[in-house]
Amino acid sequence: MLNIQQFVQPKSLQEAYELLQKNRNNQIIAGMLWLKMEDRSIPTAIDLQHLVSDQIEESDDRFIIGANVTLRMFETHPALNQWMHHVCRDSVKDIVGVQFRNLATVGGSVYARFGFSDVICALLACDATIILYKGGEMPLEEFVQSPYQRDILTHIVIPKQSLPRSFVCMRKSATDISTLNLSVVKKKEQYQFAVGGRPQKAICIQLPVEEDTIVAKKLRSLVPCEGNMRASKEYREALVEALCRKALKKLEETA
Ligand SMILES: Cc1cc2nc3c(=O)[nH]c(=O)nc-3n(C[C@H](O)[C@H](O)[C@H](O)COP(=O)(O)OP(=O)(O)OC[C@H]3O[C@@H](n4cnc5c(N)ncnc54)[C@H](O)[C@@H]3O)c2cc1C
Repeated sequence: MLNIQQFVQPKSLQEAYELLQKNRNNQIIAGMLWLKMEDRSIPTAIDLQHLVSDQIEESDDRFIIGANVTLRMFETHPALNQWMHHVCRDSVKDIVGVQFRNLATVGGSVYARFGFSDVICALLACDATIILYKGGEMPLEEFVQSPYQRDILTHIVIPKQSLPRSFVCMRKSATDISTLNLSVVKKKEQYQFAVGGRPQKAICIQLPVEEDTIVAKKLRSLVPCEGNMRASKEYREALVEALCRKALKKLEETA
């Protein structure tokens, strides 16, 4: 059971950051969808409801997503989904249910860096960056691969690129986590892929544009997979190729 000893709503991000550094067990809390399943004690739970945005802002060249934006808003935001060819919707629509997605946040999803994360997989392929209170702006890819840092995620930034793209995943049953997920963006002569649920963290791979079957075989040879309780290594490797062909077909429909 999760045991919270003290609940604090700091007045500034600096105060929140100092509280976070004070004790390694202190935690930022977002929707608490993941945290509440943990069996541990949190000396100070830091609530950023009044300090971190829950809105999606649009400028000429990018979308700026507040860390407290819910997965449901990410799924249904009209302009964001129009630019992203519904990749945002497709990446989260199978996560548990609408009530869950009304509480889970994009920030909590990104910060947790789960290997199975559909959100991270979707964002990685589109050159997203993140903004940390102390660490500043950095590519999401760098953040995902970096060691855990005690900072506050304030925003996720998606550049506006009118490019064909798609997201696909394989779940063993509805609402289960993805056995494998794959996102792709077509940039002129090059595909940018992100593959997650391998089951390790998602990785990015670029490949030249060629016939779909050739690209799918190449991707299979480049994505390291492992086995776990959900699927064997061999099954995941086969899925990389199959999902790649599916994603490229879907991408052409958006082109
Ligand atoms: C049953 C279940 C099924 C799920 N299935 C899927 C799935 O199929 N696909 C998928 O992609 N995801 C899935 N998830 C993950 C889910 O979508 C959320 O990403 C996750 O639960 C985080 O929820 P939250 O936003 O409430 O964050 P919390 O649980 O509140 O926090 C999660 C972590 O992020 C940290 N954190 C949160 N916000 C910030 C911030 N602004 N700055 C710094 N650190 C922060 C917290 O300290 C904590 O360590 C599932 C989760 C559950 C519980």
